[in-house]
Amino acid sequence: MRVGAVGINCGYYSKSRNIKQYRNNLINKTDTVSFRGLFSSGPDLSTRFAYGLEALDGQSVLVVTSNEESSNMMLELYADKIDIPVMKKYTLLVKPGELKNRDDLSANFAIFKKDKDYNILSLADNPIIGIQVANPKDEFNEKNRIFSGEKKVLIDGVAIDTGELFYSEKPKFVFNTPKNYYADSAKRYLTLNTVNEFKDFNKRTISALNSSKKVEPKTGFRFSDIGGLDSVIETLKKYVVRPINYPQVFENIRLNKGILLWGPPRCGKTLLGKALANETGAKYSEYNANEFKSSTLGSSEASIREMFKKAVANAPSITFIDEIDSIAKKRDGSSNSRFDDPMVNQLLGCMSDLEKTKTPAFIIAATNRKDLLDPALVASGRFGLHLEVPIPDEKGLKQIFNIHIKDKPVMQNVSVDELTRMMSLHKFNGSDVAEAITNAYFNALERLSMFEKMDNRTFTYADLQKIAISKEDFHLAMQKIVRQKI
Ligand code: ATP
Repeated sequence: MRVGAVGINCGYYSKSRNIKQYRNNLINKTDTVSFRGLFSSGPDLSTRFAYGLEALDGQSVLVVTSNEESSNMMLELYADKIDIPVMKKYTLLVKPGELKNRDDLSANFAIFKKDKDYNILSLADNPIIGIQVANPKDEFNEKNRIFSGEKKVLIDGVAIDTGELFYSEKPKFVFNTPKNYYADSAKRYLTLNTVNEFKDFNKRTISALNSSKKVEPKTGFRFSDIGGLDSVIETLKKYVVRPINYPQVFENIRLNKGILLWGPPRCGKTLLGKALANETGAKYSEYNANEFKSSTLGSSEASIREMFKKAVANAPSITFIDEIDSIAKKRDGSSNSRFDDPMVNQLLGCMSDLEKTKTPAFIIAATNRKDLLDPALVASGRFGLHLEVPIPDEKGLKQIFNIHIKDKPVMQNVSVDELTRMMSLHKFNGSDVAEAITNAYFNALERLSMFEKMDNRTFTYADLQKIAISKEDFHLAMQKIVRQKI
């Protein structure tokens, strides 16, 4: 594969009017890629740069940096601006002194190739560099003209033939760029087109590439599978997801490791715990607090200590404890609480210890009875962040309905608004919605005599095409749930 001619323009933008004009002419033309603002870099630098560009194949990104660690982090932050699927990441490191005597030449940027175009992404708040697509016939300097397909690098106005370097099988990577240099003018040259479907993929791939982890497809619940809990999800993103995904940003921040999800049964608390793990790639463990209750002296406390130990060892981790109220009731010295108190004390101790560390081990406790919990446990520094997971309102029910109805055949006359209004009237929770849909599907199968056909082995592909849930199927299914609720 060959890239066309590559021009690296060095020197001050304002040094000469001609240069300025020349550079302006380069914008949005074809075949030559040129960098602006690079001070007299030697052939080594340009060669490495050429290697780097050549390595770009529509599935890779080249990070140009003087500080690999911070640019990797920035690349993760800006991953959603890269609208190609990133499978590989190359880093082009600038050696000290390669950019002549300028301390401020330290900004980071990334390049990727989309179709035939090179896209440059500034990995800094101020875009500082632009890639320009130049017209090879541009008359800047007759002797340095670079024609389409030529293998030349233009340094300080002098074209250097890169010869075979463009054909290296194993490119080594290249270099750096100035800071705050052409901040304003450079913005014009950023050619970014964000495409949503790449966002998630790239975030995960880049994060994995940065930490040399293997990329595995994510399965299981995600936030997009949870309806009616947008503000809870937003808070969890803020306090858990981003701190796990971008630890560098939160390094000196005291994070809330203990989170209490409270609210009526079957409204999505467990779902949130699982989704948190899948959104972050954190290791997930789930417990029911009743598991810790033991008649053997001291063994309940030992199990709690063990759970915390595991959470820390597995960090980043999400540990979900359901029905926390069963072991964390208010301590009141009564005979009933005598057996429970040591567990509460142990939980308090473990939580306080964990809060003192920087380990990204998050403990999510869930309860339907927040009122029963020991006040010390729900104080800040323990389970200090309390999030209500309420019974969904009509809008929430609609979201949940749409999530669960996805990929199921429904007749056209079914009105989601009408159904969710009825659900709201009967105080349906998330689980009721899911069940209503499952039951409605079974009602449809029954109505269409599909069970009979299955039993007689006469069921065909054409029958499969006929299955569609009707309004009546839904109504019957919902009535059944309403009856069960009474
Ligand atoms: P409990 O307090 O009884 O432990 P919970 O609040 O943890 O209940 P979940 O186990 O998360 O409830 O939800 C049960 C099931 O109900 C889920 O697997 C899902 O099918 C459905 N469900 C509940 N809430 C929602 C929701 N907000 N969005 C989508 N599905 C939901």
